[in-house]
Amino acid sequence: MKFEEAFSLRGEIALITGGGTGIGLAMARAMHRAGAQVVLVGRREIELQAVVAELGANAHAFTHDVTEFAGAADLVERVTRQVGPITCLVNNAGIHLKKPAVDTTPEEFQKVLNTHIVGAHALTRAVAPGMIARRHGTILFTGSMASLFGIPLVIAYTAAKSAMVGLVKGYSTEFAPHGVRVNCIAPGWIETEMSRKALDGDPARKAKIFGRTPMGGMGQPEDIGWAAVYLASPAAKFVTGVTLPVDGGVSIGF
Ligand code: NDP
Repeated sequence: MKFEEAFSLRGEIALITGGGTGIGLAMARAMHRAGAQVVLVGRREIELQAVVAELGANAHAFTHDVTEFAGAADLVERVTRQVGPITCLVNNAGIHLKKPAVDTTPEEFQKVLNTHIVGAHALTRAVAPGMIARRHGTILFTGSMASLFGIPLVIAYTAAKSAMVGLVKGYSTEFAPHGVRVNCIAPGWIETEMSRKALDGDPARKAKIFGRTPMGGMGQPEDIGWAAVYLASPAAKFVTGVTLPVDGGVSIGF
């Protein structure tokens, strides 16, 4: 395989949930640069349209709430009709909830799980049959350091991000014989709106994070974008079922 082909996403159609902001936007930019058509999905039309205007050709926006599980098949059908068959699904949409475990209500807990896990499953089961039939496809998840170790005050988020690692293992074993790869990226602390909200007004937590990041500071969304290009590209054609930390060394341990 030529070098240019190994990392190329030319001919691919990547649907990215949460593609209008933060890490999802960075993945959309990087995958678009690698030659893919990108389909941005989120609840806010304005954010999505701004990205389409920035990227120009080969970028498309579809408004959709991933917790509207029953709408997943319809979304996939519309994208397939208007853009083409989805060859890469990025389950990236997420919400954060920071509060003590004992103050987290079952309803709040459920909402976090619905967004990260059940919503991702609803889309995956709508997209995967086409990938399996064509024997071509990759599915990515955006995990977290909370997929790998305990973090205080984010119990529902930790449950969701840990479950994601299980989803990736389960799907990857089931889909591997059909030519479909499934992987997860576990970002460390990355500068986005979500991390700003989680860390603003909490200097002690910020200091703890910086203190245990061997490479220092926070990562940039594009660090995750390029990792997504790699995992979705032919360069990673023998890689499935992994959770790849992109974290400046946070998960090394000490
Ligand atoms: P953002 O808040 O910028 O991104 C979250 C995205 O998810 C938004 O685009 C939002 O769009 C979308 N979203 C949320 N709920 C729904 C829904 N119900 N349906 C459709 N889209 C939805 O934060 P990040 O970019 O930081 O987060 C992206 C992912 O990265 C998340 O899964 C997060 O957990 C993960 N992550 C982030 C880290 C960080 O340090 N920033 C570290 C580790 C993981 P809209 O509101 O328009 O629907």
